[in-house]
Amino acid sequence: MVSITDLVAEGKAKRLYATENPEEGVIYYRDETFAFHGLKRGRIIGKGEINNLICEYIFTLLSQKGIPNHFIRRIDNRCSLVKRVEIIPVVVKIRNIVAGSLAKRTGYPEGTRLHNTVLEYCLKDAELEDPLLNLTHITAMALATPDEIKLMEEMSLRVNEILIGCLSEIQIELIDFKLEFGRFHGQLLLADEVSPDTCRFWDAKTHEPLDIDRFRRDLGNVEEAYREVLHRLTGNVLRNAEDDAGEV
Ligand code: 5GP
Repeated sequence: MVSITDLVAEGKAKRLYATENPEEGVIYYRDETFAFHGLKRGRIIGKGEINNLICEYIFTLLSQKGIPNHFIRRIDNRCSLVKRVEIIPVVVKIRNIVAGSLAKRTGYPEGTRLHNTVLEYCLKDAELEDPLLNLTHITAMALATPDEIKLMEEMSLRVNEILIGCLSEIQIELIDFKLEFGRFHGQLLLADEVSPDTCRFWDAKTHEPLDIDRFRRDLGNVEEAYREVLHRLTGNVLRNAEDDAGEV
């Protein structure tokens, strides 16, 4: 039994609650959906429940493959228990295929396969729209230590390999994704979430997005795409999520 105490942080897609154990927190996954740094807002019915289950599956897989992360266990449909890390204010983006801001920045056509994996660092600052950083910025601003940067890079590339392997078996192409890391008793842990909110997943045959780009670009069938990812990953078919769309 987990006793929730205070609301610690309210993000765009999640809330973090404190528990009676100061080392542990509860993440509540919301249906609220934001794009373009908050300019576009909406609600994908059932998304919170779906992302909670997808994160449980992915974090469990990553733990089995030796990637230390904050996930402890799922509590119920929308909540999971996690370790309370100190988030490092650097977002890591991994790209296998050109899309999104890389296409915009470089003019390279979306869908172009990259000759090697691209790893980008961004400052975690929503107001500044997460600007790109290079390694000298990170050390100059003491955002992370050189050892932490090395580990974040190694873990991110390994997560990419693991996810590509797992997703290719279910006919999903991993285009790109973002990761966040945190400190926990001197250890670096993968934190935040890994879900269709934070990754670009394309159907391997049709190249149709199965992720938040459906919302960003008004492609329709957003909830269906999230459900499809969950179903392919876990075999889980959720009942109509509208029955469970309540907030805590
Ligand atoms: P891009 O830089 O192309 O916009 O995004 C690269 C990857 O990071 C995509 O999978 C995208 O969904 C994810 N991403 C970028 N910014 C955010 C953000 O502010 N929130 C979330 N949840 N994901 C993001």
